[in-house]
Amino acid sequence: MDNDIEKKWLISCRDAGLGYENKAVLEHLNIEILEGQYICVIGENGSGKSTLIKSLLGLLKPVSGTVQINRQVGKGAVGYLPQQTQIQRNFPVSVMEVVLSGFLNDMRFRPFYNKKEKQEAKRHLEHLGIADLAAECYGELSGGQQQRVLLARALCAADKILVLDEPVTGLDPVAANTLYESMELLHQEGMAIVMVTHDMGNALKYADKILHISDEGYFFGTVEEYKKSELAQIFLLK
Ligand code: ADP
Repeated sequence: MDNDIEKKWLISCRDAGLGYENKAVLEHLNIEILEGQYICVIGENGSGKSTLIKSLLGLLKPVSGTVQINRQVGKGAVGYLPQQTQIQRNFPVSVMEVVLSGFLNDMRFRPFYNKKEKQEAKRHLEHLGIADLAAECYGELSGGQQQRVLLARALCAADKILVLDEPVTGLDPVAANTLYESMELLHQEGMAIVMVTHDMGNALKYADKILHISDEGYFFGTVEEYKKSELAQIFLLK
């Protein structure tokens, strides 16, 4: 049984209005993401999932209320796995370089990484079972391999929370399962995961909590609570 009371909060949204200059997409959002929680974010296209992700990453300021990232926990940064990106096949960047770029938290490229960073990057690749790909050209890999490389990259940025935007979209079922298993492994080791997904079956299978965004508002609660909610009945019947 999850004992939420003893867990520290990592991201806290208090009465937050999320959106753009003249357009609040989500209003009065009150959620706390706690250490080690696996949260799946679902909702129709255009409901505000990307807006939420950008806000959680600190890339978009709330238009009202507050969104706080707890910088006293772990490295303080939020690891991010973006929607699938296409790197040109012949673009000369190795897997190791992609993973190491996770350390570039100020977005400035630098030619060298220190020994500790290289060891950590290697450890993440080993942990995800892709150490043998380190010297390969990133653009030559399969979609599933690329996503695992990006997961290793995100782990360089954060040791407490990962935000993933539709990570299995475009992957075949075997590659998708491998990625889900990698994420579950990280979750079991204490990593908090916030994943935007359209894959309801796996969301209900893996998540501790569901955040469902809709035009009428949002639902945030455990999978069991969600299954009983009105929003879920309407959404699952669609
Ligand atoms: P989702 O990720 O669920 O598909 P989005 O967060 O992308 O939804 O979009 C939510 C709403 O915000 C949509 O109505 C969209 O048109 C609007 N929106 C997205 N980006 C911007 C922007 N940069 N400026 C203004 N409105 C935006």
